[in-house]
Amino acid sequence: ANALLEPFGTTIFAEMSALAVARDAINLGQGFPDTDGPQAVLDAAKAAIDAGRNQYPPGPGFPELLNAVAAHQQRFYGIELDPANQILVTVGATEAIAASILALCAPGDEVVTFEPYYDSYAATIALAGAQRRTCVLRFPDFAIDPDELRSAFSERTRVVLLNSPHNPTGKVFTRAELELVAGLAREYDAWVVTDEVYEHLVFDGREHIPMSTLPGMAERTLAISSAGKTFSTTGWKVGWVSGPAPAVAGVRGVKQFLTYVGSGPFQLATATGLGLADEVYAALADSLQGKRDLLVAGLRSAGLAVAVPQGTYFVIADVSSLGVSDALAFCRDVIAQRAGVVAVPVSVFCDDVAAARSLVRFAFCKRDEVLADAAARLARLTI
Ligand code: PMP
Ligand code: GLN
Repeated sequence: ANALLEPFGTTIFAEMSALAVARDAINLGQGFPDTDGPQAVLDAAKAAIDAGRNQYPPGPGFPELLNAVAAHQQRFYGIELDPANQILVTVGATEAIAASILALCAPGDEVVTFEPYYDSYAATIALAGAQRRTCVLRFPDFAIDPDELRSAFSERTRVVLLNSPHNPTGKVFTRAELELVAGLAREYDAWVVTDEVYEHLVFDGREHIPMSTLPGMAERTLAISSAGKTFSTTGWKVGWVSGPAPAVAGVRGVKQFLTYVGSGPFQLATATGLGLADEVYAALADSLQGKRDLLVAGLRSAGLAVAVPQGTYFVIADVSSLGVSDALAFCRDVIAQRAGVVAVPVSVFCDDVAAARSLVRFAFCKRDEVLADAAARLARLTI
């Protein structure tokens, strides 16, 4: 085995989804919707297959999708991109993150990120031979401590890996917070790689602000997103990265030897999705906001303290009121077995495990009746 990957083992998502199947439990662990997204997107995949678009796409991705990503960035954020050399299609955001980090980092470089962090970040940074430096976002506000953030930077900082809206906290970074990160990135001459996969899942009238729209940041930002969350097609694994042409060329240089290209018909269907009307995007956010409210109320009536998420489809609850001090053991041994609900311990996304010891992440991208059932099961749970 690759020694660089030794600390990481099996991902929590694989473990917990297998547990949900084995126990026939409600799976609020791994984040994936239990209903399909827009019919037009599903139909477009079938049409692409029937139209014979079944051989290797070009290395950068099908032009239809490159054009659709450019049009989407212009429509929602006023960002101008040249589809021919500023966008690369990848196998989900996961590959875009890995290829970007591998392209930008040399062994010994440092990557600054916030924790809890999405689990692939730590493993990917390790694979690049780089070091991660984290700034902790603490329950229940997940506010940035500016001194702690500054102390994560050094002369070796090469990249800031920023996820907003943020999994697992549900935090949507404000303009002021993004300015703080941007200022440090400029000061330390670092790149910012942004993971914006939840860009359309923001609530209560909040706004997702791409880092690349801040002054002086487009030239040092690689922006990543994917179709999985926006169109409820997590199994299609279509993602993309955009930014300055030379940097995107560097990422393409890595990607060509990871997967060469991704699956073609799903790229074309994603292009159709990116062209759907604004109302389709708004309806998704509205629907998820309702589900958030349902699960937050359910968790509260089960006696848990909850941080109300501003975006994403995850909510973090503190289970210390149940007398729990080890959320990992609690998720493995207690709620899955006794309540029949699977969730994910936040500590697996942290270096500072103590700060997250009693925190559990629940996904709410599920049918309302499933969320109600899960809440009722948790309310009945006695330890
Ligand atoms: N980043 C974050 C923050 C995520 O939650 C996910 C969801 N799995 C990904 C990246 C990966 O996205 P994809 O499935 O498109 O690879
Ligand atoms: N992004 C999803 C989550 O955080 C799924 C991750 C995965 O299966 N790798 O739950």
